[in-house]
Amino acid sequence: MLPLPPSVLADEFDPATDPALRCSRCGAKLRPHGLFFDEYYTEPLYRSESALQAADEAALLLVVGTAGATTLPNLIARGAARAGAAIIDVNPDDDPFAELARALRRGRWVRDSAAAALPPIAARLIASARSA
Ligand SMILES: [Zn+2]
Repeated sequence: MLPLPPSVLADEFDPATDPALRCSRCGAKLRPHGLFFDEYYTEPLYRSESALQAADEAALLLVVGTAGATTLPNLIARGAARAGAAIIDVNPDDDPFAELARALRRGRWVRDSAAAALPPIAARLIASARSA
């Protein structure tokens, strides 16, 4: 969590170009891929419509590193579930995606960190793709 830069509240604030919106650790731009409260996902900046369409066509949705606090990830997960995709939620903590995965026949909640869980999942997906 980073403090809100004062320039964000200025009338001339432009979230696409404001230099205050940089990571305090590495200096990388936080925008346009950081979303503030009262903002919404868009296709040009976040590929939101494309993500929703991809979810509707996915065979597998792998959810990693989100608590489900915003709408778009939840809509993506529900769309994938509705379309019959398998859903794997990697999260040490219970969240809406873990709950959804548990409710699905082809769902799994991997209660672990991404660093621990993803290498074996990736290895199995790669092996599966090679044998297909
Ligand atoms: Zn950084």
